[in-house]
Amino acid sequence: MKWIQLLFLQVYFVKCCISSNFNSHTPTSYGFTLDNSIDHYTHLMKNISSKHESDSEYSSFTFSEGQEIKTTNPGDEYDFIIIGSGPAGCVLANRLSENPDWKIFLIEAGDMENIAHDIPLQAAFLQSTSSNWGDFTEPEPGVCKGMYNQRCSFPRGKMLGGTSTINYMIYNRGNRRDFDKWAAEGNYGWSYNEVLPYFMKSERSRLGKFQDQKYHNKSGNLNVEYVNYQTPMVHAFVKGSQQLGYQKIDYNGRTQVGTSYVQANTVRGVRHSAASAFLTPIMNKRSNLSIYLNTLVTKVLIDPQSKVAYGVEYNQGGTTKYAYSTREVILSAGTFNSPQLLMLSGVGPQNHLRELDIPVVQNLPVGQTMYDHQSHAALTFIVNTTGFSPATNRLNPLDVVDYIRGTGTLTMIGGVEALTFYKSPNSEDPPDWPDAEIIMLGGSYSSDEGTAIIRGANIRQDI
Ligand SMILES: Cc1cc2nc3c(=O)[nH]c(=O)nc-3n(C[C@H](O)[C@H](O)[C@H](O)COP(=O)(O)OP(=O)(O)OC[C@H]3O[C@@H](n4cnc5c(N)ncnc54)[C@H](O)[C@@H]3O)c2cc1C
Repeated sequence: MKWIQLLFLQVYFVKCCISSNFNSHTPTSYGFTLDNSIDHYTHLMKNISSKHESDSEYSSFTFSEGQEIKTTNPGDEYDFIIIGSGPAGCVLANRLSENPDWKIFLIEAGDMENIAHDIPLQAAFLQSTSSNWGDFTEPEPGVCKGMYNQRCSFPRGKMLGGTSTINYMIYNRGNRRDFDKWAAEGNYGWSYNEVLPYFMKSERSRLGKFQDQKYHNKSGNLNVEYVNYQTPMVHAFVKGSQQLGYQKIDYNGRTQVGTSYVQANTVRGVRHSAASAFLTPIMNKRSNLSIYLNTLVTKVLIDPQSKVAYGVEYNQGGTTKYAYSTREVILSAGTFNSPQLLMLSGVGPQNHLRELDIPVVQNLPVGQTMYDHQSHAALTFIVNTTGFSPATNRLNPLDVVDYIRGTGTLTMIGGVEALTFYKSPNSEDPPDWPDAEIIMLGGSYSSDEGTAIIRGANIRQDI
């Protein structure tokens, strides 16, 4: 990646903020002016003129802004149609297109990543841009009381790569017991021993010696590494956890209860989204894979008699079009949009569908069983240190230089530094099943001076 691109990225990023299209409250009270930031980065750009190629062996894996995805002339019939290019859709597109005899069509409502998505520290800012679908909960008594209009925000990525382009990049596979519970409840193929080979197939571990070797692979697509920059505070956190009896562990290894520096989906400090991991390496190399961006699927076509899905209706540039599948339509549009699309296609609670004049194909409780995990901003410690702030107007040329070298504050994954999987004294679950995850951030809600985290979470200024 060229230096000049990196310098442009901050200006680009600020532009993204300007064009962000949600959050109904006015941003004027945030004490941050976009114009000042643009001036700041224009100034930086003028002062750094050297152009170097990065030595990153992965630089060719990164999308550059404005790059177009070449598709074969798709026609309208495929073996597999994949709706949504989040981690699920990207992995499926990669694996299915390994077979040259199959034609694959991947349809994505969003656009392509750019260098603003690459910078791990900027994760929170992306929630206030059009890379996020911008969903909010409906107001409910006693819920989301600290949020504007009593509505919590439910961020979701709208981009090639889905939510992995705006998320916090923590690499955490989940607990063995959760998978085994799902399998025991009848979800065939979901036990830990059955999913572990797939996690490992995907992984390109760069965790070095401190990893549970049996649980990691070095040759997959998705890079996993420790964050290269650490605040002094993180060492105190890990030490403190150890003093409380939590051993330092590889939480993607044989046990999860313990403490660890965070494992991240970055490549030498650059976000490694599902798109950059699973699509970039095959882009323009597999003529059987077609990808449409900025294309919204509006309906899965389902035969009402056989109940078999045979195609999709989609909207591209205001025109309704159709594509047909000979094998499968795969719905991987994410937590909110997959159930929404099922309902639009006639699969869902019949009373609700009838209210909306949607012909019922199958009466099912779609969209009624969503669970989210609670999270709380718990203790905030005021420390006697300066020098770390994700506020864009605090960055200086040296931060950019460090970033190019794969280190420095910009490589921190939204500030997340360490995790402790914790077992509360009241838990009645088996000893290796934690019931809380404590995440240590080298910063607080106010570190970005109100420019990102509280905006993304829709938290009121007076809170
Ligand atoms: C703020 C935040 C932070 C997170 N941090 C982490 C983390 O640190 N580590 C971690 O492991 N997980 C994290 N997650 C969760 C993780 O990102 C998701 O679990 C994961 O992205 C889900 O993948 P998916 O493919 O199911 O869906 P998504 O990633 O949501 O992708 C769905 C895709 O479908 C597209 N789409 C939707 N509807 C349509 C349509 N009608 N037509 C065409 N395309 C459509 C969307 O635009 C999107 O690209 C985080 C999530 C959030 C919201």
